[in-house]
Amino acid sequence: GAQVETHAFQADVQQVLQLVIHSLYSNKDIFLRELVSNASDACEKLRFEAIAAPALLADGGELTIDLLLDADARTLTIRDNGIGMSREELMQNLGTVAHSGTRRFLDSLAAGQRASGESIDAQLIGQFGVGFYSAFIVADRIDVTSRRAGHDDAWIWRSNGDGQFSLEAAPADTPRGTALRLHLREDAGDYLQDWKLRSLVRTYSDHVAFPIRMAAPAPKANDGEDGEDGEEAAAPALETVNQASALWTRSKSDLSDDDYKAFYKHVSHDFADPLAWTHNRVEGNQNFTSLLYLPAHAPFDFQAGRDERKGLKLYVKRVFIMDAAEQMLPAYLRFVRGVVDSDDLPLNVSRELLQESRQVERIKGALTKRVLDQLEKIARDEPEQYTTFWNAFGATLKEGVVEDGANRERVLKLLRFPTTRSASADERASLDDYIGRMTGLQDEIYYLTADGWNAARNHPKLEALKARGVEVILMHERIDDWMSGYLHEYAGKRLRNVAKGEIDLDKLGSAEDKAKQEETAKAAAPLVETLKTALGDRVKDVRVSNRLVDSAACLVLDEYEMSLQMQQLMKSLGQ
Ligand code: ADP
Ligand code: MG
Repeated sequence: GAQVETHAFQADVQQVLQLVIHSLYSNKDIFLRELVSNASDACEKLRFEAIAAPALLADGGELTIDLLLDADARTLTIRDNGIGMSREELMQNLGTVAHSGTRRFLDSLAAGQRASGESIDAQLIGQFGVGFYSAFIVADRIDVTSRRAGHDDAWIWRSNGDGQFSLEAAPADTPRGTALRLHLREDAGDYLQDWKLRSLVRTYSDHVAFPIRMAAPAPKANDGEDGEDGEEAAAPALETVNQASALWTRSKSDLSDDDYKAFYKHVSHDFADPLAWTHNRVEGNQNFTSLLYLPAHAPFDFQAGRDERKGLKLYVKRVFIMDAAEQMLPAYLRFVRGVVDSDDLPLNVSRELLQESRQVERIKGALTKRVLDQLEKIARDEPEQYTTFWNAFGATLKEGVVEDGANRERVLKLLRFPTTRSASADERASLDDYIGRMTGLQDEIYYLTADGWNAARNHPKLEALKARGVEVILMHERIDDWMSGYLHEYAGKRLRNVAKGEIDLDKLGSAEDKAKQEETAKAAAPLVETLKTALGDRVKDVRVSNRLVDSAACLVLDEYEMSLQMQQLMKSLGQ
């Protein structure tokens, strides 16, 4: 006669639940990933707490996650022997919206930013740690039986997702950890099939560092009684169905792109594939492994979450310690997701200790370098990918100019801006592009800060420079003005804000020269046409040049790539 108490869900939970069920209906499979991910978190938490209190692990050897099927009862049970939940934790974690991310999500819904509930897509939901509720996509009733490690009492939480849950004491012999029993809905019968679950585990949860076990195929004898009421009395032999080793400890050659992508979804809560990743082992006076991801899009609450930095998990010798993005990465790289696993830090390292550690300082320096290397590589080899990155995080990266004096030159190299030659604000160039196009007389980089694209483009200070054919970088975003206080030099060239202070126009040639050049160009047009026809596709283009003084013509690789020295060299060769 256990006493059963009934509690109402917090109003918000009901709302989240409805959103989850409706928006993820066509994406049912993800519930398993979410629940296995929670079980894995629970095992990691226990391992972490056991560092200070080894007795917590006393009654159980290996940490495992078991998937148990009962076709007759139509239930799927996900069981772990991790940290478990106390009565209060069951109420708090499964009955309220405690996560600040979810809070913000709901607040923005209320503010009408996403007025119609129908348009909430799977990606958004996934970013807010509403994982547990995804169980209701496939189940119309859920029983959660749990014992907190080190506690004597165990509890059962039950709900059918209709706004209420109940709590009652569980039998005294309930093992440590949590068992979620899902009573599957009519249309979720697929998940009663052993092969279906195995394939989902392999696809989504292969990287989970703990063994995920399922019943081994029974040797076709033993036609005895089945356990009553789905109680796993005569427990079947279990076999491990995943790799069960931390993904980042495996060698790159053993890992496929799909492995990396699945792991990304696990660490980031992002449903979309990452843009890129970098996986490295460093050995020397610091030994650590890092696996860092660049997301392809900014999380929904990315800007709001500026002061709550997460996304980089710190492990010490394979044991999860804490989310340590703040200590391990500079703020301007806060879009990076992933893990760092150190062999040298003490297992009992605290947040305070991390803040002061020289070792951590070195790891942070190395990670920063890795990310910048990776960005440079993408910028160089995959410009389209880089544009995707830039659209999502370019403004964040700009903070690096201010924040990271030591890497300022490298950050500057990664920045992209429209210029006076751009037809729209999205047509951007790098500082290197700009330098490559500088006219012969110019020895400084000119930029202009203004409030908005149109204000920048039509700025009166541009006229004199335009008349001289001088290109100007147009910085029109909000952060640019702040950043420009830190722009002094790039590639040995001074950066000059033409909106502030006077420019020595004389050294750039006169406007009349420019007008004369245009006249010359017009006059030469028929000659250019003749040459083009004569040379055919042996040349890319024939153009009138203002740069040659004595020679009649020169051969150019590509106008914008051409350095002054090269031109002079060619001139001296009489080309
Ligand atoms: P998240 O995993 O992002 O925190 P979830 O909705 O998936 O959000 O889970 C909510 C909370 O419920 C977790 O933070 C955790 O405290 C608790 N929880 C869920 N599943 C388990 C489990 N198997 N063992 C222990 N605690 C759990
Ligand atoms: Mg979760």
